[in-house]
Amino acid sequence: MGKIYIVGIGPGDMANMTYRAAKAIEAADIVVGYGAYIELIRDYFPEKEFASSGMTREVQRCRLALEKARSGLKTALVSSGDSGIYGMAGIMLQVLNESGSQIPVEIIPGVTAASAAASLLGAPLMHDFAVISLSDLLTPWELICKRIRLALQGDFVLCLYNPRSKKRSGYIGIARDIAMEYRRPETPVGIVRNAGRKNEGCEIASLEGMLNFDIDMFSTVIIGNSATYVENGRMITPRGYVL
Ligand code: SAH
Repeated sequence: MGKIYIVGIGPGDMANMTYRAAKAIEAADIVVGYGAYIELIRDYFPEKEFASSGMTREVQRCRLALEKARSGLKTALVSSGDSGIYGMAGIMLQVLNESGSQIPVEIIPGVTAASAAASLLGAPLMHDFAVISLSDLLTPWELICKRIRLALQGDFVLCLYNPRSKKRSGYIGIARDIAMEYRRPETPVGIVRNAGRKNEGCEIASLEGMLNFDIDMFSTVIIGNSATYVENGRMITPRGYVL
């Protein structure tokens, strides 16, 4: 009988993929995923059969995975980072429920962009933080702005996914302007591009100056809370321990 593994492959390199994720991909007869993610792992699994699809074709990708599993294949559906954080787990379960299929499913977590980015910056997520995606493809922009504002009011560290694409080039600037209402201009902001991939980059800016740095759709941006500081090139959000 077929089976679906919903696998978080981590940020990109094999070193940051969990053992369990690698084992699931090895066990699969076919690996289904977005083309760019397939390219990240293809060389690590040279014997494997892969089936890719375009970026906004998530539902089709899940239907393809279901079709393969129904034909008896062990099928790995891959997401970058964690499959359960803006990944394929939710939509795959919805497609399965819609189909009424009893195919077994296993969801395998992965290292999400927030933790990969934080580790390169220092320790910015030591206290309560909120992850917000700036993509308005599936979420109204007004709701995104409301969440940003409320997270800032709550003094959460803010971790922004999907900070900028060609169509949404101005959103990160709006997010920064909202942050300037609640945080000091010198609040540390970490920008990590392509964590664990070729062209990995990591910078620590200030809230005021953050827009002078390259921020794209492969970047994660972490805006500190009111206590976050930088020392020896590392960003630290203190948890409150007394030294
Ligand atoms: N499921 C993924 C997130 C998908 S949303 C996860 O758990 O990490 C896509 C966004 O994640 C990107 O726009 C970017 O903000 C962030 N991201 C994903 N991989 C990244 C990487 N290697 N380096 C930096 N940011 C990354």
